[in-house]
Order: sequence, then structure tokens, then C-alpha cells
Amino acid sequence: MHEMGIASSVLDAVRAEARRFPNGHVYKVVLRIGALAGVDPDAVSFCFGALVLGSGLEPLALEIEYRSRQHVCAACGRSFAAANEDSACPECGSADAVFSGGDELEIAYLEVEDGAPAARA
Ligand SMILES: [Zn+2]
Repeated sequence: MHEMGIASSVLDAVRAEARRFPNGHVYKVVLRIGALAGVDPDAVSFCFGALVLGSGLEPLALEIEYRSRQHVCAACGRSFAAANEDSACPECGSADAVFSGGDELEIAYLEVEDGAPAARA
């Protein structure tokens, strides 16, 4: 299953990051998924939840930042969320737009709780 592989690599990234913060705890990972990435966010969440159980990384939450297809209007320069490739610009009505995003599949950021007292500089 495609989504299981994705969930597994997200968890690997969390493990790698956790080694950088030996006294902290990664408690949230935010994954950005574009509408065109061909990934089912619910399935990724489900697989991730299953993998986290018993991994020693709990508690660890996965948050998905879902991004719709993005276009930039060639006529007026406005960026907008497009329903499909023929979507017209909401600003000027032009159908001449360039694809600019919505196919992402990446870790946006991790949130780490620092368990150690802050080091004095
Ligand atoms: Zn426009």
C-alpha cells in the first residue's frame, strides 16, 4: 500500500529528527499533501497511527495540511485555488493560468517539546 510507505518514511524522518533532540520529544509532525499528489490523507493518517503504536515515539500526532491545486493567473498575476485545470481566475475571469502548486508531498515541520531545562548561553 502506497500510503503505508509514506507513513513509514514520515516516521523515519521523525526518528532522525528525534536523535537531534535527545532531551526533547517530537510530539507533532505536519505533513503537507497536495490535491494532485495522488495520496489519500485519511489513509496516511490511519497507517501512521498504526505505525506509531508501540514505536516508542508516542505520543506523536500527525497533522495533515491539505493543499488544493494552485494556479497563477497569466493575465493579472493573482494566485488562486483552482478546482481543475480549466478554472478561470476569480479576479479577472481569464482562463489563462499557470499551474503553480498542489502536488506537494513533504513534511512541513515538526514540533518538538524540549524536556531539558533551557541551556544558559
Ligand atoms: Zn486574473
